Amino acid sequence: MSNAKKMHKCLDCGQFVPLRREEIPFGLIGKWAATVEARVYDCACGRGVVYEAVGPMLQAIAAAGIKKPSRLAPEEIRFLREHLAMSAKEFGRLVGVTPSQVSRWENGAPMGTTADRLVRMIEVQHDSVEFDVQQLAEIGDTARAPMRLRAVRNKDGSWKAAA
Ligand SMILES: [Zn+2]
Repeated sequence: MSNAKKMHKCLDCGQFVPLRREEIPFGLIGKWAATVEARVYDCACGRGVVYEAVGPMLQAIAAAGIKKPSRLAPEEIRFLREHLAMSAKEFGRLVGVTPSQVSRWENGAPMGTTADRLVRMIEVQHDSVEFDVQQLAEIGDTARAPMRLRAVRNKDGSWKAAA
């Protein structure tokens, strides 16, 4: 089969179906969403999605997310904490607050400017994000609505995300 590389075994019924590349909505947390590139197939039994390199994809999203000029939204704080694979206790210990304060932030209580910037720096270090600290000075104090991101794959297979 010459097209073997582009065929995929349906996860539900086992039929081999063609795969195509498509940008689809990817739910992160709550109101925060991203559009990501994935391989999609339409089978007689339904539609399937195959995500590739999900770890690097989430890493690209986290790295793009911390560059937003407005304050981190509650969903973004939770996403970043989970991306760092930390419990509220571990995360709170780094930021210098109690686990219940972490929970309040993730549920909508405003996070102070200093904590907001510290959380971004933790992610910068975690994923070795290219980040000019001068950008911190440009983070505003308003518009905590979560941003929409778009993640696409580069030719070499790595991910690129942008707001
Ligand atoms: Zn099927």
